[in-house]
Amino acid sequence: MIVAKRKPFEEIKNLLKGYRKVLNVGCGTCVAVCLVGGEKEVAVLNAELDMARKLEENPVEMGAITVERQCDMEYLEILDSMVDEYEALLSMACGAGIQFLAERYPAKPVLPAVDTTFLGVNQTVGWYEERCRSCSSCVLGLTGGICPVTMCAKGLYNGPCGGTNKGSCEIDKNQPCAWYQIYERLKAQNRLDCILEITPPSEWQNQIPRTVIQPGYKKQEKK
Ligand code: SF4
Ligand code: SF4
Repeated sequence: MIVAKRKPFEEIKNLLKGYRKVLNVGCGTCVAVCLVGGEKEVAVLNAELDMARKLEENPVEMGAITVERQCDMEYLEILDSMVDEYEALLSMACGAGIQFLAERYPAKPVLPAVDTTFLGVNQTVGWYEERCRSCSSCVLGLTGGICPVTMCAKGLYNGPCGGTNKGSCEIDKNQPCAWYQIYERLKAQNRLDCILEITPPSEWQNQIPRTVIQPGYKKQEKK
């Protein structure tokens, strides 16, 4: 899932400076799971903003709605009849959701209330760890399911650097060496031959925004 964290309150308050009526739009998917931008967090942030602006004798009227997914146009439709009432939209979705909201309502200022952090896993409640950097060329089949792009400090594809030290990475002794872990995992699976396969240098594919069209929908897209 996409993991995010709420921006510092002062930063959000500053973004809203000058607006008197703002709709806070939450997202019910990833950011709700990581307790940052779901219905509850929208209500909490609105209460904080309401209180802070009242204390400044500069009140703001905060509207609230949480859509199923802000990165999906069909779930934004519900906002069409609401946005005209507001001077600006505050979004508690990830960066993709915020941009989709801005794309649907280009005449409205759309302001981010969260910082999108990484693509990760929910290790336990409230504990999230990065696992994937969306490189578009997954090598997990050769690396025992451990991502060298994310877990190795240098993003090395073909074995460890000279700094690997008794299982730790040279950048920090508390940081495991990804390639040590890959070796141990493959050894336990009796698949050490995988480590000898050379992965060619990555053709970086993320300099321009990428598009994925599922095969079944390709015809429809070409019309
Ligand atoms: S190799 Fe790593 S960064 Fe690339 S897609 Fe696989 S998990 Fe993600
Ligand atoms: S010590 Fe291991 S994890 Fe650290 S940079 Fe070198 S290969 Fe990557």
